[in-house]
Amino acid sequence: MVQSSTNGRSARQDGHGPVPDEALDALVTVLDEIRLGQSTSRSELVERTGLSRAIVAQRVGELIERGLVTEGDVGPSTGGRPPRQLTFRADGGYVLVADLGATSIDVAVTTLDGRILGHHDEPARIEAGPDRCLDRVDALVESLLRTTEALPGRLWGIGIGVPGPVEFEAGRPISPPIMPGWDGYPIRERFADRYGAPVWVDNDVNVLALGEWRSGVAAGHDNVVVVKIGTGVGAGIISDGHLHRGAQGSAGDVGHIQVTDDPAVVCRCGNIGCLEALAGGAALARAGQAAAEDGRSPRLRAALDQRGTVTAEDVARAASFGDPLAMGLLQDAGRRVGSMLASVVNFFNPSLVVIGGGVANSPDQFLASIRETVYRRSLPLATRDLLVQRSSLGGLAGVIGASAMVVDQLFSRDAIGRWIETGDPSGVTGRPVART
Ligand SMILES: [Zn+2]
Repeated sequence: MVQSSTNGRSARQDGHGPVPDEALDALVTVLDEIRLGQSTSRSELVERTGLSRAIVAQRVGELIERGLVTEGDVGPSTGGRPPRQLTFRADGGYVLVADLGATSIDVAVTTLDGRILGHHDEPARIEAGPDRCLDRVDALVESLLRTTEALPGRLWGIGIGVPGPVEFEAGRPISPPIMPGWDGYPIRERFADRYGAPVWVDNDVNVLALGEWRSGVAAGHDNVVVVKIGTGVGAGIISDGHLHRGAQGSAGDVGHIQVTDDPAVVCRCGNIGCLEALAGGAALARAGQAAAEDGRSPRLRAALDQRGTVTAEDVARAASFGDPLAMGLLQDAGRRVGSMLASVVNFFNPSLVVIGGGVANSPDQFLASIRETVYRRSLPLATRDLLVQRSSLGGLAGVIGASAMVVDQLFSRDAIGRWIETGDPSGVTGRPVART
């Protein structure tokens, strides 16, 4: 049953057959505990998973033999024989990620636990279309691979985030409003063919949510809404300890909730009155530009004269200098986002709302006005222990989250069952196999 493999692990496979189904569940449970840092010893595993001491010992032994877990120094003793520390072998391979925003590209190389080994970001326009954007991603990836020292092992998987709705099963954007030319584009196949590794694609808000949940402010929370306010507005949902993508992958697309029936508010999606058309970064930039042209804000006027255009960042900067008009624009946008979030909070009852994205780097008034509106408009029980916080990872949340998406998929029960026998995950197609 042992398949041929070109990597160094094949030597260790002698005597290892396929993992039986019933053992796979325990194997994945034990591995998740170790790689997510929740258990660091066999006794902790027994305590936390409810598995028997014998089963834990067997599964840990298998994970060590298969090179996924290492047994380190003796840990602190709590009386009796001191436990050996179990560690996930995060340098068993590396992950490539690209987080494409409306106006930026981030690429990174990470270890299997999301530690960033190399990172590069630069301005880019997603509307340039898939060929130009992804050619640029390839060039940046090649340069990263050249300059990153001591790449661990080989490529295990690729994670891509894009600023539009993605059918997660297919790895393709579907009618993305701000991504002309990308509708149905086979992003997964393109990267899989080029790099020979499994690929997962999701929208930029879901990867942001995964990043904040795995390594940022949302760590330890089981029910979280992560709102991204960049050029557009969207939300990622962590529900009962899982990223909730919904039936097709479009869950959390709150930017296109209708918040006004004013026919003058036309959204890029083609509908009237969407939140995004009033409170997204593009809307803020538009309102700032109008104010600059009318001479209502000297500071925005100066930005317009300098660069010929006003951006959402200009509005945020003007507000941080106390420009009353810019502050008013941000407060209005904050109230609109807060009002939408109050409905979401009543509906979903999260313990934490995270505000991220470019506009979230605004002065405190923006977050304050979101927070005030959420608390005022939501039910008392829903807000009793509710936290509303700013994203803690800044610009790195997307790449950290895209890396977590890849590793969670690779180590999901169905996927690991398909590759653990050979120790070579490159044969996994990237077809999503389980929720993360
Ligand atoms: Zn819309």
